[in-house]
Amino acid sequence: MKPNLLGLSREKMKALFSELEEKPFRAQQVMQWIHQRGVLDLNEMTDISKVLRGKLEQLVEIRAPKVVADYPSEDGSHKWIIEVASGSRVEMVFIPEGSRGTLCVSSQAGCSLDCSFCATGKQGFNSNLTVAEIIGQVWLARQQLDGFDAAAQRRISNVVMMGMGEPLMNFEPVMDAVSLMMDDWAYGLSKRKVTISTSGVVPAIRRMKEYTDASLAVSLHAPNDALRSSIMPINKKYPIAELMDAVKEYMSSLQDKRVPVIEYTVIKGVNDHRQHARELAELLKTLPCKINLIPFNPFSLSDYRRPSDSVISNFREILQRAGFTVTVRTTRADDIGAACGQLVGDVEDQTRRQERHARRAEARQNEASEHSGQSRVERARILASTGKAAASDPLVLGS
Ligand code: SAH
Ligand code: SF4
Repeated sequence: MKPNLLGLSREKMKALFSELEEKPFRAQQVMQWIHQRGVLDLNEMTDISKVLRGKLEQLVEIRAPKVVADYPSEDGSHKWIIEVASGSRVEMVFIPEGSRGTLCVSSQAGCSLDCSFCATGKQGFNSNLTVAEIIGQVWLARQQLDGFDAAAQRRISNVVMMGMGEPLMNFEPVMDAVSLMMDDWAYGLSKRKVTISTSGVVPAIRRMKEYTDASLAVSLHAPNDALRSSIMPINKKYPIAELMDAVKEYMSSLQDKRVPVIEYTVIKGVNDHRQHARELAELLKTLPCKINLIPFNPFSLSDYRRPSDSVISNFREILQRAGFTVTVRTTRADDIGAACGQLVGDVEDQTRRQERHARRAEARQNEASEHSGQSRVERARILASTGKAAASDPLVLGS
């Protein structure tokens, strides 16, 4: 398979041009064409000689992931489903805040870690995304939201690795993609505005400092090992004390003063008691951090419930009184289901519906052609046009 230039970090792009005995500034030119001007066709890279373009044409490809569904929300949020090489579908979500906004990016199709409250976990693991498929989400969102016009407003101010999958279980591709997000030759986002969210893969957190200085969010969701292990199997392997140590170590490796975000999905009757809040405050006493409470987002395969607003505000108050900065993730884009991994089930249902529809159309055609003596080619042509009609639904592109 030819390497996809969209997914080459600065180092790898430079190495490629050095192998071709070309100057390092070629790497800068090509990266800027791709990530800053949105150009994926080598022929449009006019400051690169025809000879070099011809050579590259033979050796590489430049390909963005394929968007198969596009869900704009009434509140300005936007969700896209993309198809990755393995054939699986993953999602990315853009959530605007005023004139800026946060893009939530996926790192794996499915996830092996099986947290009990997570729709992605229920799908099991399917595949790791490549660097091009991860950074391709940022490329696509920029193309779809703003275009690549230099004068256009840049609406993506933050990127969080909080879509589908556990970023640290796909370590190197995620590290390369994150480096492109922060690279001045690519998206140039500040290290404060690129966040890796992890459920606590301790050895990978310990390795992170050798690769990146991006911001860190930790999915804690419980104040003690017994409860955490019961909802997050990874805690049996890497208990809370080890996780806290690894997080402290990473934060102290950073040059500037930054704190991690502790994520806490609040689930009715599971981890939402006042006592849990008090225990959490005690646990986090020695870790400077911000706390983000996420009201559980219900989905069809789960019996868990979202707690009432008053339970969440009591929980928040206990933490605030203990001195923590606490935010509560507001429910956005309810109409498009913007929680982790949630919408993909719906899209697959919809695809299956389309397949059933196509099969029924085929049966009808077979029946009709038996009577009319219609050729196979004619039947195929009619079927293809039936498929097209289904794909022209405004929300489902090309599936
Ligand atoms: N695997 C990574 C990142 C993806 S999930 C991680 O676990 O951190 C992003 C966040 O959404 C995590 O904090 C995750 O625990 C949380 N989450 C998953 N399913 C949820 C749900 N149904 N309701 C609320 N939060 C959920
Ligand atoms: Fe995987 Fe994160 Fe979902 Fe847990 S919460 S199953 S780690 S994606």
